[in-house]
Amino acid sequence: MYDHIMIRYGDLVLKGRNQKSFRDTINNQIKFKLSHLNVKFEFQHDLVYIRLNDVNPEEVIKVLDTLPGLSSYSKVIKTKYDIDTIGQESVLLIRNEIQGKETTFKVESKRADKTIPITSQEISRLVSRIVLSGVPNLKVDVHNPKLTLYVEARKDATYLYVNRIPGLGGFPVPMAGKALVLLSGGIDSPVSAFLAMKKGFEVECIHFESTPMTSIESAQKVIDLTEKLAVFAPKYKIKLHLVPFQKIHEQIIFNSPESFVITIMRRMMYRIATAIADENDCSILVAGDSIGQVASQTIESMMTIQDVTNKLVIRPLATYDKSEIIKIAQKIDTLEISNRPFSDCCTVYVPKNPVIKPTAKKALEYENQFDYSNLIEEAVDNTKTITLDNREHLDIQFKGLTVAECLE
Ligand code: ATP
Ligand code: MG
Repeated sequence: MYDHIMIRYGDLVLKGRNQKSFRDTINNQIKFKLSHLNVKFEFQHDLVYIRLNDVNPEEVIKVLDTLPGLSSYSKVIKTKYDIDTIGQESVLLIRNEIQGKETTFKVESKRADKTIPITSQEISRLVSRIVLSGVPNLKVDVHNPKLTLYVEARKDATYLYVNRIPGLGGFPVPMAGKALVLLSGGIDSPVSAFLAMKKGFEVECIHFESTPMTSIESAQKVIDLTEKLAVFAPKYKIKLHLVPFQKIHEQIIFNSPESFVITIMRRMMYRIATAIADENDCSILVAGDSIGQVASQTIESMMTIQDVTNKLVIRPLATYDKSEIIKIAQKIDTLEISNRPFSDCCTVYVPKNPVIKPTAKKALEYENQFDYSNLIEEAVDNTKTITLDNREHLDIQFKGLTVAECLE
């Protein structure tokens, strides 16, 4: 029945040339991500129409749901501008929608083409009369209808629909720039990565792994998480930098007071992340901290940690509750992987009394008890970079990488 999908762009607050590049970027991504389906594209001023050619609309929507920068879409029927035809098509659409149930409705019309000789109110009135006589169990309720039939009338084509499906919103990648996400195997950082992508950042991920001190499975989690996140990337690909962190990790445990281990470990991670971000033109660092969640996530602690970098550090989840974070993790399908029970560098050694209000001065004092500079340089040099590719939406079978293959 539905023969087209109508797509509305996200925030178009940027003016002038930016607006054109916003559109070109998202239009190319729509074409690329739908290239495996036999659909046709019609690009108009601030809308895109996809002619379905018998492709199941749900197949298209599944792909659109992975694209930052789209505000909403609707399954639509395209018809010629002729009140009787519009009325008959509307009868079919509403019958299909309500399946015989009793309900209330109204028609909302928009005359996108001002050469149409009747007003939009008149279009609504005429269409609604035909619908009422063609669909049993239907009543008009203009104030609080259960169903609204939208009619977008133009002389060359008229579109009918009843639903608006919300898209991801945000900006198309990479309108916001490039970000390096500190990705652990936990629940929070993958959600942060997703939120950064949704805001239009092209992301790369960095993970600090301490095998064999930590389990190999915990590094595998990060690889699987990155692959999941790659669904939202314009080309289904994300780079992951795997940093060998074990030697630094050991020295920190050996040379710092227990209460400062986590703080110093994070500062070492941020130093290395800054170097990797510079090498890869990433302008910001993204982390998964949520204020107050654990001891290392107090304001003082975050300040002490970010003191070692000149990069802007963004923490999309800073103000989120755990339940809100979990909801997003479920939606993007990372929760199950994050919940696999393997130790990472933060769980293998949990100090009994971590410092709640550290200072950079104090941390530096403890860091000066050992010269970490060579180990940091070595970790940067030995960082392995892999590209995770997730094309399940293109129906191309992807062979998942094992951590052993990545680290060898
Ligand atoms: P997550 O659920 O993302 O692990 P968390 O609430 O457990 O977060 P912490 O363990 O305090 O928080 O870590 C805070 C942030 O530091 C993480 O969200 C992540 O961005 C970063 N981080 C921690 N451990 C690592 C690691 N091994 N590799 C990369 N980043 C890390
Ligand atoms: Mg964690």
